[in-house]
Amino acid sequence: MALHRVVGCFIAMLLSAPAWAQEIKVTLLGTGAPIPLMDRQGPATLIEAGGKRLLFDAGRGVSQRLWQLKKPLSSIDAVFLTHLHSDHLVGLPDLWLTGWLQPEYGRRQTPLRLIGPQKTSLLAQSLKAGFAPDIAYRSEKEGLPTAGIDFNVTEIEEAGAVFEEAGLRVTAFEVDHGVVKPAYGYRIDFAGKSVVISGDATFTPALVEQARGVDLLVHEVVAAAPALRGTAFVQRQFEYHSSPQSLARTLDQAHPKAAVLTHFVLLGNAANPPPTPDAAVAEVRAEGYHGPLVAGDDLMEITVGVDVTIQAPTPQPARP
Ligand SMILES: [Zn+2]
Repeated sequence: MALHRVVGCFIAMLLSAPAWAQEIKVTLLGTGAPIPLMDRQGPATLIEAGGKRLLFDAGRGVSQRLWQLKKPLSSIDAVFLTHLHSDHLVGLPDLWLTGWLQPEYGRRQTPLRLIGPQKTSLLAQSLKAGFAPDIAYRSEKEGLPTAGIDFNVTEIEEAGAVFEEAGLRVTAFEVDHGVVKPAYGYRIDFAGKSVVISGDATFTPALVEQARGVDLLVHEVVAAAPALRGTAFVQRQFEYHSSPQSLARTLDQAHPKAAVLTHFVLLGNAANPPPTPDAAVAEVRAEGYHGPLVAGDDLMEITVGVDVTIQAPTPQPARP
């Protein structure tokens, strides 16, 4: 068969692929921050495309959210860490250990792939050391495969592509998260569609570059009760997270086709209640940004295909 006919057949196959096969599905597993809330678990975003499941950050409750959706913990192909703040990590030991167990929510047979900043290897080694008695007991007495409780770690040395498989490319870029260095955001490209995850970041030109015209920007935000905005604590948070003002600047310059807020750092106290997520969106609007912008919720699904479709969370049973 002539080469051009082979190429023609290949293009025809691509064109005839079902629409879902060329989509990126994004699920917000956790949209909270360190506050231990039931309805906003710790930061974690699931990306499904090209038959892969990639997890970005592993905050508190990530295992419960995955299994609530009947997705086995072992079905995660790789975990990407944006930075090593605890609220982005505390769900990792659970995902790793529980995902190794014998029941259907677990059954990992191969090492958990972990991609993150410098010292991610130290984190993995420390977890293995700390849980050594449990690992020994379960591998020796229960016969669980030792390969399933190992890590396969890649430490990011510089910005650029960090994962390329199944037509899916993940690019890491450095963001400004104050004293936390390095801190990364990630861009996911698949079948001509693109998603950017900010990680924790105040205004960062590199983030604007990666997010310019992107199909979906998943971005963090910090907002505070008006009476507290002058306090040192709030000022510090505003310096390394995106305030409504900083976020409006990012959105205005990047012009994403859709934007969803996550990782809500909403500051207040008993006398001065914290802003709601919708109030944070309203503050961004008040700064002059009028493009697409939605406050995310745990279990919200966003499909990035020909169009970007945002589906409010459907009630999920507490047990799958
Ligand atoms: Zn952080």
